[in-house]
Amino acid sequence: MAMNRRDTFKIAGVAAAAAVMPSMAVATEAAATKEVAKKASGRSVVIIGAGFGGLTMAKALRKQDKTIEVTLIEKRSMHMACPLSNGLLGGLDDMSLSMFVGDYGQPATKYGYTFVNSEVVSIDRKAKEVHTSTAGAVSYDILVLSPGIAYDYEKQFPTWSREKIAHVAAACPAALMPGNEHVALKRQLQDMDDGTVFIVPPAKGKFRCPPAPYERAAMIANYIKNEGIKGKVVVLDTRGGKFAKGKAFKESWKDLFADIIEYKGLTEVTDVDPQAKTITYTEYANIDDEKGTVKTEKYEVCNLIPINKCSPVIAMADIEHNGAGYALMDGYSFRSKTDANVYVIGDAVTHKIPPSGQTAIWGSHRATGQIIAQLNGTVNDPIAGLPAKAANVCFSMVGGKPEEAIMVTHTFSADKSGVLKGKGAVPKPKDGNGKFRSQGTAIATREWFGGVMREMFN
Ligand SMILES: Cc1cc2nc3c(=O)[nH]c(=O)nc-3n(C[C@H](O)[C@H](O)[C@H](O)COP(=O)(O)OP(=O)(O)OC[C@H]3O[C@@H](n4cnc5c(N)ncnc54)[C@H](O)[C@@H]3O)c2cc1C
Repeated sequence: MAMNRRDTFKIAGVAAAAAVMPSMAVATEAAATKEVAKKASGRSVVIIGAGFGGLTMAKALRKQDKTIEVTLIEKRSMHMACPLSNGLLGGLDDMSLSMFVGDYGQPATKYGYTFVNSEVVSIDRKAKEVHTSTAGAVSYDILVLSPGIAYDYEKQFPTWSREKIAHVAAACPAALMPGNEHVALKRQLQDMDDGTVFIVPPAKGKFRCPPAPYERAAMIANYIKNEGIKGKVVVLDTRGGKFAKGKAFKESWKDLFADIIEYKGLTEVTDVDPQAKTITYTEYANIDDEKGTVKTEKYEVCNLIPINKCSPVIAMADIEHNGAGYALMDGYSFRSKTDANVYVIGDAVTHKIPPSGQTAIWGSHRATGQIIAQLNGTVNDPIAGLPAKAANVCFSMVGGKPEEAIMVTHTFSADKSGVLKGKGAVPKPKDGNGKFRSQGTAIATREWFGGVMREMFN
């Protein structure tokens, strides 16, 4: 017997599935844009951003308490994970884009939360409403912000026009945010002739996944080596060799890609000309060299990663934040300092813990406990379980044939300064023959990645 539309929607869970389909969300809600948002139930949690933080929390809340109504709002129509994506650029065996993507409908249907595919354009904390570009307004009792980062080309290159920034951003993809930028960078590598790939890590400040630019150097060098390209990877850094997992990266670079990777630790990039495919930078001989030497060099591929700032969603919520837009926190918790009904997770926090996917997952679980306690009128101690050992584990691929990786672990604790703090350690693995890298660590890297994708989607 053929089912009609009403029958279909009687099936448990399908209503939630409908909400994940952008066309439906648009069709049913666009007309309501100007209408008053439905009143929140008293147990409504709205999460902005379906990345590592948001996806983890939506699932965790519903798993723990089915009476909580969860709505997850995301502007992208498909998830792409950033971790391990440097392996894709490096041409590691059996890696394809399909490993990194996920459809939002899967967990929304399974765990019974509503997914809204639309961009949040304003937040009214007084009315407790979130306004979206195509799906109207959504009311909340508790709001969770997990919107990630933004690029700050304007701060780094104050003389560049908007057009110039747009041009450089497209021609020299940063690939620190998921999606098109990674695909563009991969295509540029596939199309490159013999020549130089420049990698420019963010010049200063907090940035997403601190080891990522240095892992990228190793992976692109692996690609160049395996493809027989006559080329170099030049890293134009500002950190004088002191960067995340620095010793371990430098050891691997030297052992595996000494003739390919050139690291310059004291530089300042001042210009990029995408037409001429040249990059201009000043190189300083040492920290006392004030003048430096200006160089303009030709590139085949340029991965310019600008200074990071926080997503504008934090400022949109009008909660207190630091100069780069990251949210000020209420002590050791994941509540915002400003509003007891607004939580912040993932890269957007000002806790002194590394901005990583694993950290976002860890923080989401803690915030979930704090939110459930708040809704139930019970007490959640924000320092319970601290210090948390290996709360963050972050792997970096450093070799391709054979596949080898390095790792760092962080213990998170309650710092005297009043926020959470991470302390890192870079261990040498048992199977590393005295080196920081090993094949066993590379296997663990792939297993970890499979685990976090399951955490968010299954
Ligand atoms: C190359 C690379 C390698 C990495 N490697 C690792 C690794 O090995 N291990 C690790 O743990 N981490 C790694 N990371 C870091 C990790 O990806 C991030 O730290 C993590 O994604 C942060 O989670 P988040 O929820 O804060 O932000 P995101 O995952 O970026 O999610 C934010 C979401 O919010 C959405 N959003 C923003 N604004 C709006 C709006 N106005 N309306 C609706 N939606 C909005 C965005 O579209 C996005 O989907 C890596 C990152 C990169 C770039």
